[in-house]
Order: sequence, then C-alpha cells, then structure tokens
Amino acid sequence: MGELIVDVGGRPGLDCRGFCAYCYFKHVRNPAPLGCRHCLPFKKGCDYCTRMVREQYDGFRPFRDVAQETLAKLQVATREIDRVTISGGGDPSCYPAFEDLVEVLAAIEAPLHIGYTSGKGFDDARVADRLVEHGLSEISFTVFASDPGLRRRYMHDPTPDVSLAVIERLAGAIDLYAAVVVLPGINDGEVLEQTASWLEDAGARGLILMRFANEPHQGLVLGNAPLLPGIEPQSVGSFAALVRDLSARHRMRITGTPLLDPALGSPFAIRDEPELLARLPRLTGRASVVTGAVAAPFLASLLERLGGTASVVAVRKEIACLITADDLHELDPAALERVVVLPGRALVHDREAEAILSSDGVPRTVVRGPDMLTADGETSMGMNREGVLEMELTGLFHLVNTINLHGEPGDGDRRTGSGQERRAGRS
Ligand code: SF4
Repeated sequence: MGELIVDVGGRPGLDCRGFCAYCYFKHVRNPAPLGCRHCLPFKKGCDYCTRMVREQYDGFRPFRDVAQETLAKLQVATREIDRVTISGGGDPSCYPAFEDLVEVLAAIEAPLHIGYTSGKGFDDARVADRLVEHGLSEISFTVFASDPGLRRRYMHDPTPDVSLAVIERLAGAIDLYAAVVVLPGINDGEVLEQTASWLEDAGARGLILMRFANEPHQGLVLGNAPLLPGIEPQSVGSFAALVRDLSARHRMRITGTPLLDPALGSPFAIRDEPELLARLPRLTGRASVVTGAVAAPFLASLLERLGGTASVVAVRKEIACLITADDLHELDPAALERVVVLPGRALVHDREAEAILSSDGVPRTVVRGPDMLTADGETSMGMNREGVLEMELTGLFHLVNTINLHGEPGDGDRRTGSGQERRAGRS
C-alpha cells in the first residue's frame, strides 16, 4: 500500500489569490540559504534549504505536466496506491485545472486527500458535491474564522461565504480537519469559540489551532519578521492553556501546534509510559543535545530518566526544526560537551555549526539527531496515541544510540535533569 503525491506547484501568496495577513511566507525576498543536513560538506546551500523550505516554485505546474508525472508514477509504483494526496506550494483550490485534475485522479479509485487548502479559490459551493463524488475523503482546510468578514479581511478571500459553505458541506460528508492561525485580539476569544462550535455542528473531525508567529525566535527564519507589526503573539504557555480549555468544552478533537494534543498527551506522551521507556537503551555517552525552547524541558527530563549522561541545551528558538546558525551563536560554547547533537532538521550547515560551537578554541564535533522526536498538534491530529508513542519511541531510540555512538564515555558527570537544562547566556 502506498501514497501517491500529486504536486501542483504554485507559490505561497502569489498562487493563493494574495497573501493571508499571517502567512509565514509573506515578505520573503531571496534570503541566503540557511544550510542543512542535506548540503554537501563543502557547500552551504542545497535544493532543500534553498528552494524547498521556501516552497519556491515558478508558479503552478501545467496540468499536462502534472497528469503525465502522475501517470509515470503510477506505472512504476510497486505497491498498490491506497491514498492520493494533492499538494503544492500554492493553494490547490486556486489551481486553474483543479476540477479536471480531481476528475482524472478519481480514475485511480483510491481515496483522495487534499493536504492543505484555504478554499480561497472556490467560487461555487457546489464544488463540494463534485469533490465528494470524485472520491475526496479527507481535506485540511484553513477556516481562520466562521465570520465571513474576518475571512475576507485577514485571508483576502474574495468569496468567504462560498468557502464557508464548502467547509460546511465537506465537514458533513468526509473527514475535514480545520485549521485556525490564532491572531490574538482578532480571531481568539468569542470568535474562536463560535468558530469551534460552528465546525463541530457541521461535523468537522478536528480543529488544529496554530500559534501565530511574528518574531524570528518564534519561527520566522526567512528574514521576514514581523508579519503583522504590533500584534503580540501568545506565549507558548498561554497558547497551550487556550488549546486545553477549548478542547475541554468541545467533543471534536482539538489540538494545538506547537503545543499540545490534550486527547493524546503529546508532545512527548511517552513521559507517562515508564514501561516503554524501560525498553530503550541506557545512555552511556556524554554529549550536549541542542534543542528548541519548547522541547527542552520534556527532553531533559526524559534523558535524565534514561541515564543522565547527556545534557540538554535549549536555544531561544522555540521550534527545534527551525534552529539556525544565529541560535548557535547565542550559546556559550564553554558550557558544551565535545560532542554536540543537533536536531536532524535544524537549518544550519554542519561545518558552520562546528565552527560556531568551537569558537572558544575547543574543537567540537557536531552530529545529527533524528528528524522527529515527537508529534506536534498538526501531525498528531491524524494519529492515535499508539502511533504517537511509536514515533517517540523510535525517535528516542535513535537519539540515545547517536549519543552513545558518538559521545565521549560517560563518567558519572550527571549534568542533565529537569530544571537543569541550560539556555544560552543564562546558565
Ligand atoms: S493560503 Fe496559505 S500559503 Fe496562501 S497566502 Fe494564505 S497562508 Fe500563505
């Protein structure tokens, strides 16, 4: 069984009928590549960290190209296709040949999934019925608010009533996961409450709340902060409280990203599973594990329980996958072990990281940890607790093995522990 990805291309903002006010890609010009684990050792910048992280396409791909590529993929597929997903840098609902494409994909007779849409390209609510007829089974749909005026103003949706009608029809017929980027003072409070109730009544499977980011340390790494001057994003703690509170008052599944999934106990649900933790190898190597501010306390506590020979060092950046060289510059190298583990997806070139982290004259080796240690609310929405626990078990297994393989022999210097995780310039 396999998934067939159908990439329609497109540019965020430009192929979505204009930028949403909160779009992560707004104001991105042409920043220098950040570097990543995929870069060649002698060259900072590769296709992934130059083009893919910016969703940089030339525009929507011609329908003929997309159809031919899909056919070619089908011809070489070795497994039965059990899911077809339409994705792209732009918004699929704005793809000029969207309905033709859906009609062609229906012939595959596998459940169709739209990975993400804002719905701004839908100008006729009857499209919902046609999509269902053609096998659409799951869709992630940005709603922002059930108030059409707010959708028009903040998403620049020219036909917000139609988009909301499409959401309502799809939510009653298929698995619809709605998403809301929470802008404090605009679509939180009573507006959010009404939006959640409206979605629940319509039959939505879930609601993913996304904390708005407006500053580099919150995740705007493409030189485009602030997106909305004057809007103060919520702290991670108050956002998590909002998610917990809203979830407690609704039957529909509600998660938040970066924190939390109240139904599954993630991120790091494994902290409440001592039997699973007991299955992991013990830590024997000494290393510093650099991570983001959100994951740090969870990870420090887990590594302590696994043997405590590795220290967790939090940077100011809240999301580990978005750590860049700037974050490493803020660390005090003298507080680090000789071996430093960086998150697999951190956007920094390994050679550059080693130079920054050795700037006190002590040579340090940088190794990469796993890409994912847990599931954020966006990822966990389509999962159950077993799936999340398996992901966490696998991630921690690889992390512990990486530390034990590359770290210096442990000598009882127990520097990890809850409350002991150190932060740049504050240790
Ligand atoms: S629809 Fe999505 S990608 Fe397009 S501008 Fe809005 S937030 Fe950005």
